[in-house]
Amino acid sequence: MRTALVTGGSRGIGAAACKRLAADGYRILVTYCNSAKKAEMVVDEIRNMGQDAVAVNCDVTDSREVALLATHPWVAEKIDVLVLNHGRYDRVQATDLQLNQLRSTMETNFEGAFLVWKAVQPTLAKDARICVIGSQLGTRGSSHGADYSASKAALEVWARSLAQAVASQGQRVNIIAPGFVDTDILAGDSTEKRRNREQEVPLKRIGTPEDIASTVSFLCGDDSSYITGAVIHVNGGLYLP
Ligand code: NDP
Repeated sequence: MRTALVTGGSRGIGAAACKRLAADGYRILVTYCNSAKKAEMVVDEIRNMGQDAVAVNCDVTDSREVALLATHPWVAEKIDVLVLNHGRYDRVQATDLQLNQLRSTMETNFEGAFLVWKAVQPTLAKDARICVIGSQLGTRGSSHGADYSASKAALEVWARSLAQAVASQGQRVNIIAPGFVDTDILAGDSTEKRRNREQEVPLKRIGTPEDIASTVSFLCGDDSSYITGAVIHVNGGLYLP
């Protein structure tokens, strides 16, 4: 039985990735921080698809919870796919950024990913596929998210370094850098702001969580067997680095 672990699988992109990987034949460890009910709903949907899934509480900033995650029997057996998806975006003006905010964002978005990888590393399959969810802002920067952008830049460079380090073992590590995706992160947008975003995107629509999940599926599947250390921008043409 092949197993996929998705951090922040309770909502948005993570939930879509869980369902897509379940459809691809993996049993799914859906990890969540605060959204227990939503994580259970994802598990129910996956079970209704005829695939196995379990929800596990794991705040990635809590090293004890991450250590506990590593003792879950499915993790202890073997992890074939690891999706480091969790993230937070607090929209703070770069000029107002305080050190505690910067540290907190780095702790969740960057260090949390490192901690989870480190904890499950001993049981990663020889040909494990790791997919890291970065952001276009990790390359572009953002006047209202310097902490977020810095955390995503760190995550991206760490993941590319890891890709180089583990390639000879047969493991692959890739990064997806989404543009605008229709999740709770954009839920506060006014109708006008949303329309402006749609117009800004050359493909004239905001991305869906499934747009990202299908890229996760590709990067974790055999059709991408010669791709590692890549940053795939999934953004409707919004930003072309
Ligand atoms: P959501 O806000 O919908 O979901 C965020 C997820 O991260 C939730 O499942 C949440 O868990 C989890 N999470 C947050 N903090 C922690 C923590 N400390 N420990 C464990 N899990 C945590 O966001 P999206 O689905 O939009 O974002 C998913 C990823 O995609 C993020 O990394 C984000 O930065 C990135 N991204 C999103 C874009 C967008 O436009 N939506 C654009 C570019 C990148 P819970 O609910 O259980 O607390």
